[in-house]
Amino acid sequence: MHRFPLRIVRAPYLSTSLCGVPQRVWASAVTAQKRMKTTKAVIFDLGGVVVPSPLAAFQEYEKKLGLPRGSISRTVVESGDRGAWNQLERGELTLSEFAEKFTKEVTQRAGKEADMSGLLGHIGECLKTPNQSIIDAIQCLRIEGLKTALLTNNWEWQGQGSWSMPRELFDVVVESSKVGTRKPERRIYEICLEQLAVRPEESVFLDDLGVNLKAAKALGIRTIKVTDPEKAVLDLEQEVGGLCLRRFVDDTTTVPEHLRIPVDRLQKYFNQQLNLHSSDPPVIRCFQHGQSNPTYYVYYADKHLVLRKKPPGKLLPSAHAVEREFRVMNAVRQFGVPIPKMYGLCEDSSVIGTPFYVMEYCKGRIFKEVELPGMTNQERRDIYTAMADTLCKIHQVDISKAGLDDYGKKGGYLRRNINRWTKQYEASKTEEIEAMNNLIDWLNRHIPEKEAITIAHGDFRLDNLIFHPTRPEVIGVLDWELSTIGDPITDLATSLMNFYMPFDFIMIKSFQGMDVSTIGIPTVPEFLDIYCRKMGIPSVPAWDFYIAFGLFRFTAILQGVYKRAISGQGSSPKSKMVGEFAKRMAEEGWKIASSSDLRPTMSATGGGLQPGSTGGRRNYSTGPGDLTTSMAVTPDGLSPRAKTLYDRVKDFIQKEVRPLEKEMLEFHREPDNHWKVCPTLSRLKEKAKAAGLWNLFMPKESDPGMKYGAGLSNLEYAFMCEEMGKCPLSSEVFNCQAPDTGNMEVLVRYGTEEQKRQWLTPLLNGEIKSCFGMTEPKVASSDATNIESSIRREGDHYVVNGHKWWTSGALHPNCKVCIFMGKTDQSAAPHKQQSMILVPMDAPGVKIIRPLSVFGYLDYPAGHAEVLFENVRVPLGNMLLGEGRGFEIAQGRLGPGRIHHCMRLIGNAERALEMMLERTQNRVAFGKQLAAQGTIQQDVAKSRIEIEQTRLLVLKAAHMMDNYGNKVAAPEIAMIKVAAPNMAQNVIDRAIQAHGGAGLSDDFLLAGMFAWARVLRLADGPDEVHLRSISRLEYRKHNLAKL
Ligand SMILES: Cc1cc2nc3c(=O)[nH]c(=O)nc-3n(C[C@H](O)[C@H](O)[C@H](O)COP(=O)(O)OP(=O)(O)OC[C@H]3O[C@@H](n4cnc5c(N)ncnc54)[C@H](O)[C@@H]3O)c2cc1C
Repeated sequence: MHRFPLRIVRAPYLSTSLCGVPQRVWASAVTAQKRMKTTKAVIFDLGGVVVPSPLAAFQEYEKKLGLPRGSISRTVVESGDRGAWNQLERGELTLSEFAEKFTKEVTQRAGKEADMSGLLGHIGECLKTPNQSIIDAIQCLRIEGLKTALLTNNWEWQGQGSWSMPRELFDVVVESSKVGTRKPERRIYEICLEQLAVRPEESVFLDDLGVNLKAAKALGIRTIKVTDPEKAVLDLEQEVGGLCLRRFVDDTTTVPEHLRIPVDRLQKYFNQQLNLHSSDPPVIRCFQHGQSNPTYYVYYADKHLVLRKKPPGKLLPSAHAVEREFRVMNAVRQFGVPIPKMYGLCEDSSVIGTPFYVMEYCKGRIFKEVELPGMTNQERRDIYTAMADTLCKIHQVDISKAGLDDYGKKGGYLRRNINRWTKQYEASKTEEIEAMNNLIDWLNRHIPEKEAITIAHGDFRLDNLIFHPTRPEVIGVLDWELSTIGDPITDLATSLMNFYMPFDFIMIKSFQGMDVSTIGIPTVPEFLDIYCRKMGIPSVPAWDFYIAFGLFRFTAILQGVYKRAISGQGSSPKSKMVGEFAKRMAEEGWKIASSSDLRPTMSATGGGLQPGSTGGRRNYSTGPGDLTTSMAVTPDGLSPRAKTLYDRVKDFIQKEVRPLEKEMLEFHREPDNHWKVCPTLSRLKEKAKAAGLWNLFMPKESDPGMKYGAGLSNLEYAFMCEEMGKCPLSSEVFNCQAPDTGNMEVLVRYGTEEQKRQWLTPLLNGEIKSCFGMTEPKVASSDATNIESSIRREGDHYVVNGHKWWTSGALHPNCKVCIFMGKTDQSAAPHKQQSMILVPMDAPGVKIIRPLSVFGYLDYPAGHAEVLFENVRVPLGNMLLGEGRGFEIAQGRLGPGRIHHCMRLIGNAERALEMMLERTQNRVAFGKQLAAQGTIQQDVAKSRIEIEQTRLLVLKAAHMMDNYGNKVAAPEIAMIKVAAPNMAQNVIDRAIQAHGGAGLSDDFLLAGMFAWARVLRLADGPDEVHLRSISRLEYRKHNLAKL
């Protein structure tokens, strides 16, 4: 009988380097190949070698027909070349012609009627069970990289045999009947060698007939006569340089020299310690893939065993702890976790060189392909359900009852692991991976408050499970090397990691973008649901965190693989290719993290499994949990670094920008200069950039590695932005102007590397400008689901069509790119129809129709344009984040971008109040300074109160965004978007009034600032829309309270 190909193997992509100990990855059988020297192929005869000799079948048939013994074989030999048998073997006769002719020949020789029509069927029946030792040898040879051939005079492949010989066991099959020549004719050997593409001396031939061997030998082929197949395999082992060709188990090879173990001492241990006895020494094979703990298949005393040991050489104390593996496996086995029978642990290094343990070799199925090819939908579902079931069994083990209280630290698992993998990543870093830096920072700030404590397997994946040979039942959980007491959700995330991997990851199939339900595999929510129901918990908390953590861990592992590959320690080019995925893996992780709704937390603490929701309703006066940092309400409360930056910004505006403010405004008033770049402004920009006062807006949340900006929190930036609002041109001086700020943030958060290279870098450098095209004249655009523009895919391009207006910035001479919003799928759910795409402004089909004015202001040189996009073709690579994800981007874009406007409005209002104070002290009416008028004083007081109130609300919004994320801070953001422009409008209006007619002229900034405050009651979404959201929340709270 064939044995099932069984494997106990670690997937190479998870080959870990714990504590920095390097391991071999994709170890090839290099050593063994060296020993093979000249042998490249082994050629097998069929009858008498791969299957039993047909002679016995002849004899049985003779007996059945009552023929004298030997009559059939004698006929075969004596009829010679023109006899029926030889003719059949050369393919010269059909089967019926053969039956007729051979019947005559045998009848004649036996002197008795002998019907040979059933002979071939009878032989087929007799030979259907192959010689297992030869089949094992063939599989062993193949896994060592040798070629195998079947060279047969048989007619088997004409379909006569009822047994099935897997053709895939052979690289080459040469059948006499097909090639028209038969052994021992020289030609048939030559054909075989040609097809194998080896020279005679590079091959070995096994046959049971001396005449066939002689002919092969004459050609220079080495030969082995097969009388006893097992003995022949031993002879073959010698011929191929000592390779182990016995007891094949899938994925095992001859034990490489450096991993050899002393067979005699192991046998002694088996006899004495495990009470296993046999006179034959153990057969040992080595699982070939790069496990950090060498693992062996051992056949001894009729037992199929697995031996796992520490690697040889000097090790770090905590690494490769096979003792721990043995301990946990033994312990959890008693709690129903499927674990192979554990035979024994030997901690005495003198036995085979290092400690080891022995367990039963489980015969079952290991699924390396996560999509489970060749199964029905129901079977796939059952397999995944069994996987979830097994995970629950592990997580339900009572740690104390299992005697594992000291198996690991209780609590702090996530932080410890983030630190550990970060260190490992840092040690193998070959370049700066920005996404990884961001991810590490994000993970550290989002560690769930409540961490559950169970046994954690540490590497729970489908291919670490052995399933029953036929039933959907896990019979063995392998590879406990990373197990400890830890957070069980990390196991859950690991088991579903392939749903989140880059779609083209080469090691395992990624389910990203696939609808797995069509092939019966549970989707992530379904799998989580199965897990939760079995665990008796309502939901999985902070799932984004665990997925991001899983991808971070993979990145660290892959980076290690890559480093070893390029430093020559991992010999396979495949390791390098896999390692190159480190960056992509980190980017996937950062994508999850950066679009997550999770709010930052302080740190991880211990506790039982505590599922719960991440959001929750809250009172406006507090955060959803304890506020983790105090909120600065004046610049003096800022960190020293932020305070210094603030002072420098303020100083720069005072000393450099304000003195030139008038000049710059006047430059643009000249009709010829409306749409030109102001040289003074350009000079100031260069100066600010040189002073490091550049891109201050980029929030730390999106850019934790400070690659793009100053790494300020929203709150820190709020104070600086207010200063910029006091001198409206200064935002641009620091490259902090809308709409570029929002667009840059979109590119940082959602842009591909290529998009960043093409657009983000020049924007960050202040070399180009951008615009944002959402609003359309034909539809009420305050409801963005109305947007009608289309983005249609056509081959390798998207075709963009739309009529936009109020596209701010589009008229600027340096405006090079538009983030364009349009529908990619009209039939999708309302919030999945829209996408955002990057449209170069110089692309054919982009037409600026006219500038729009605001109360007569054209807001040059950026302006607000009406723009037509007609059949504009843009490459597929310009799509942001993916089709249907426009709303996701809009959410991300509009958080910080909108709050910047509010911060600046505070500055506008401060400037207006400042101007009002100045003006009213210098002018006298009706015998008094205006400042002495009671109504003026009241206006001043009201303005101060309103500014202070609004600033506090703006700061709170910023603080909430920093501490809990944009989504949780949404109510505050909505509130300030109404409060700030209305407040500014009032304050500026009072200042205008106090200025008299001058206030309405362009001689003062007030008219322009008023217009802008009015704009912002619309441009960032009409007041009504924000008020609607706020009031809806109020009503919801009220109803909830009643319930
Ligand atoms: C100076 C300026 C610059 C701009 N820059 C840009 C830009 O760069 N890119 C861009 O895409 N857009 C820009 N806009 C457009 C701006 O975002 C839109 O004007 C705004 O979203 C409103 O859309 P709408 O004009 O289509 O008004 P509509 O959607 O037609 O709304 C009209 C009015 O209906 C009322 N309304 C709407 N919804 C509600 C509700 N739920 N309850 C009660 N009343 C309601 C409000 O009073 C609202 O003002 C800019 C606008 C201005 C004025």
